Parts: sequence; C-alpha cells; structure tokens
Amino acid sequence: MTEKTEPADMPSIELRTEALESLLVEAGLVTPEALDGLINRYVADVGPMNGAKVVAKAWTDDAYRRQLLDDGTAAVGELGFAGPQGEHIVVVENTPEIHNVVVCTLCSCYPWPVLGLPPDWYKDPAYRSRMVREPRTLLSEMGLDLDDDVDVRVWDSSAENRYFVLPERPEGTESMSEEELAELVTRDAMVGVAKVTAP
Ligand code: FE
Repeated sequence: MTEKTEPADMPSIELRTEALESLLVEAGLVTPEALDGLINRYVADVGPMNGAKVVAKAWTDDAYRRQLLDDGTAAVGELGFAGPQGEHIVVVENTPEIHNVVVCTLCSCYPWPVLGLPPDWYKDPAYRSRMVREPRTLLSEMGLDLDDDVDVRVWDSSAENRYFVLPERPEGTESMSEEELAELVTRDAMVGVAKVTAP
C-alpha cells in the first residue's frame, strides 16, 4: 500500500524514530546497545521463521495442530518461542471454506515471538481501517483473490489477543518433510493476506 497519511513536509519515520531514540538515551531510559540488541533479535533471529516452523509442525502432527488451536501461546512455547508480545497468541485456521486475516485496528499488535516485527503495511492506517470495511477488495489489491463462497473472517489483534493464521497446507506437498514445508510458509500467509503455494 502506498497511501500517504502524513503531510509531505513531515520528517520521515526514520528521522523521527532517531530523534525519539536520542531523547530516550539522553534521559538514561535506554542504551543504544540494548535497543540494537532488541531490534536485531526480532529482525534477524526471529523474523517470521519461528511461525513457519510452528505451521509446518501443525501440518505434519495433528495432535500438535489441535493443541495449537486450543492454546496458541502454550503450543508455540513448546517449540521454544516466547517473549514480549507473545503472551496471548490465538491461532485461527484457514480451510477451503474459511479465510482468516489479521489486523490491529488500534495500533500494530502482532505476535512477535512467531512473526518478528510487523511490516510497515501492517501499521498503515489504510490497511487497519480498510481490512475491516472491505477485506475482499483489499485482499484482492494485495494479490489474494478469494472465491465468493469463502467466508472471510477478520480478527482484530490487541494486547489481549494476538492472532496468528494457520494457513492451509497446499496440495502437492504430501511428500515434503517438516523442514521443507517450513520453507514454503511466508509471513504474509500467517497474517492472512496471502496463501502458501506449493513449489
Ligand atoms: Fe495494536
């Protein structure tokens, strides 16, 4: 999405973030090293790969899948993924009849331990309002066309519940291993704005 929500003469997000960081460091509230460590951890180490491992395990182990749908935080924690913004992970499952998609209408609540930090478009006010008002149109603009008979369910993430989509396992992947399957799973599929496709 390219819709601009700020006047053109506003400083960039990067500049404003830098200014905020300087103020926090000056006030002694954070150190640049601690901030870099946190950011690197979620960008480089976590990324969406933890989530992809969770999905691949759910696809190949039905007991785990049921556990994941029953208590997302516990099932994700079982694979060693936990931490800030991961306290109340709720997993919703896509099927041929139901397509789930996640948004945070208020801000940018997102399950960090499984997906890393949210992409910019997830924080965009246009995504946040339009996904509720016209999910089919927006999904289609993002490259996902759904049949009319598919039930689209939009989940509003918050501090109480951080939603995470268990995508459908694509056909033609029956012989693939859990590791190979994990490589197919994308961040966008786990937010619900895309499907996983077979190689
Ligand atoms: Fe939020």
